[in-house]
Amino acid sequence: MNKRITVLSGDCIGPEITAQGILALEAVAKVFGHRFDFCEVPFGGAAVDACGVPFPDETRRACEEADAVLLGSVGGPKWDGLPKELRPEKGLLQMRSALGLFGNLRPAKLHPQLAFACPLRPEIVEKGIDIMTVRELTGGIYFGAHETRQQDGQRIATDLMIYSEGEIDRILRVGFEAARKRRGRLTSVEKSNVLDCSRLWRERAHALSTEYPDVELIDMLVDNAAMQLVRDPSQFDVIVTENMFGDILSDESSMIVGSIGMMPSASLRNDSFGVYEPIHGSAPDIAGKDLANPIGTILSAAMMLRYSFSMAQEADAVERAVSEVLDTGLRTADIMSGGMKQVGCREMGRAIAAAIRA
Ligand code: NAD
Repeated sequence: MNKRITVLSGDCIGPEITAQGILALEAVAKVFGHRFDFCEVPFGGAAVDACGVPFPDETRRACEEADAVLLGSVGGPKWDGLPKELRPEKGLLQMRSALGLFGNLRPAKLHPQLAFACPLRPEIVEKGIDIMTVRELTGGIYFGAHETRQQDGQRIATDLMIYSEGEIDRILRVGFEAARKRRGRLTSVEKSNVLDCSRLWRERAHALSTEYPDVELIDMLVDNAAMQLVRDPSQFDVIVTENMFGDILSDESSMIVGSIGMMPSASLRNDSFGVYEPIHGSAPDIAGKDLANPIGTILSAAMMLRYSFSMAQEADAVERAVSEVLDTGLRTADIMSGGMKQVGCREMGRAIAAAIRA
């Protein structure tokens, strides 16, 4: 297969980690007989420096023409003083909205080799943690009308939560499809005991579930979900939820699996196109020192193979390579522990690429 991948390496550690993501994808192409063409374009602070804006038209076109996008991270102190519209982070929001990326997938998997990084008790950790949160990304309370007004001598603020059936259905389908590709359990998280949006959500979830008889649908109220995530995270396979609940729960689930440097994500729409990036920021404190952990980016590349290119075997091969390299005791500084061997971003990337086999 031939695929075009646009690379937005971004700022600070962005170029260091995306280089290792590309190395892994090149290894996959070689081992499995594919061809991936990479096109690197400026984004974030780098684009502000080169073109005056964080998401230039040329970058937008390169994203639209690609089969998928690999993104590093944006931002840094150099651009912190810029007006809001020119901040590198604004480029992220512009890109997600311009490309219509309504679905955010955030897997939280505890690698057994890194169990020490989990803040939960060992008997909970032993059961394993492997959760995919599917979060709606372009609707709900973050995108409804926001207003602060004066009334009766004080300020009153309102934020409108709004969802159409169409918006709910398309994200639920992402959830059902993801569950179908994993262990077949979908937990639909809402607050249907209080919110109309959630009652509509629950109704649509049950209506769609008839199309996915192979997926077990579980309804869960968001307050209970927050508790269950720390009480027994092993019960979850895929969680599907609206924008704000997903924002909060996906951060909770990433916390329980330890290092931020390990966590990948995908932002998707209705076709096979997607943007793949680690969940962390640009880590200015370690930029240029070969200290960054590239695993979040490499696992994001694995998600690209799985979700945009339907290359499940190739994705498995990348994830297996990460696990094997962790087994050999190699660790970047952020996940270092006693008796292990500390390596830099480049050496970790090289070791993982070399471990990719059919
Ligand atoms: P951060 O995620 O960049 O860093 C938080 C901490 O985690 C730092 O100590 C950093 O060294 C460490 N860290 C992050 N990624 C790591 C990795 N791969 N390997 C090892 N350690 C890693 O968050 P921050 O410091 O709050 O933000 C820094 C900049 O990133 C800001 O400008 C922020 O706006 C931006 N940001 C960008 C994105 C994005 O590009 N999607 C997301 C969040 C923050």
